[in-house]
Amino acid sequence: MLSAEQTKIMKFSITERNMKTFLYALRGMGIDSYVSGRKSGLTLQILQKAVKGCRKCPLAETRKNIVFGEGSSNAKLVFIGEAPGEEEDIQGRPFVGKAGKLLDQLIEHIGLRRENVYICNVLKCRPPNNRDPEEKEIALCRNYLFSQLDLIRPKIVCTLGRHAYNTLFDVDERITKVRGITRDYRGMILLPTYHPSFLLRNQDKMKEAWEDMERLKQLLKG
Ligand code: URA
Repeated sequence: MLSAEQTKIMKFSITERNMKTFLYALRGMGIDSYVSGRKSGLTLQILQKAVKGCRKCPLAETRKNIVFGEGSSNAKLVFIGEAPGEEEDIQGRPFVGKAGKLLDQLIEHIGLRRENVYICNVLKCRPPNNRDPEEKEIALCRNYLFSQLDLIRPKIVCTLGRHAYNTLFDVDERITKVRGITRDYRGMILLPTYHPSFLLRNQDKMKEAWEDMERLKQLLKG
């Protein structure tokens, strides 16, 4: 039971803004009926603040920066990668290393620039030594991604590599099996393609990646 003094302090310290951050934190814990996308008043900025304070998994101890995502909040096209690498961790921005340079070229091929789209990852913190994300980390982090998509509501989502695709559909598919096949994701068109890091190691797959970019261009026009 709170004392009268404690109640008074609480009343003064709960502002609308920190209440939203608090509600979002609840959602992160799996209590998500309180907050649902735009209707809640949640914004990307508020969400980013919640991610900044996130300590749900041990990656919070080793990260230099969170990598929330960046680009247009009205983007028609969202790219989803796997997790920040070393350079992303240092800069706090997604896809700014070697793989990012290739992603920039892929985006240019569609006739767009980075600032016209939105780019984010499944994990918001770097796994040490760039290892694969662990299932537990994905489970703790994925609500942030779901909310980003809820808030942006793009026409098209392009998943880069298997982790992004598998996280959205809660499956365990090989990227070679699903790549290039569009499907519905909660009212959005989803096109899975290869991860740019994979493309850097497998140049023979570039042709298919360019085809996927052509497809995105057509889908954006349609
Ligand atoms: N790889 C990713 O999946 N995301 C980044 O931000 C950078 C490299």
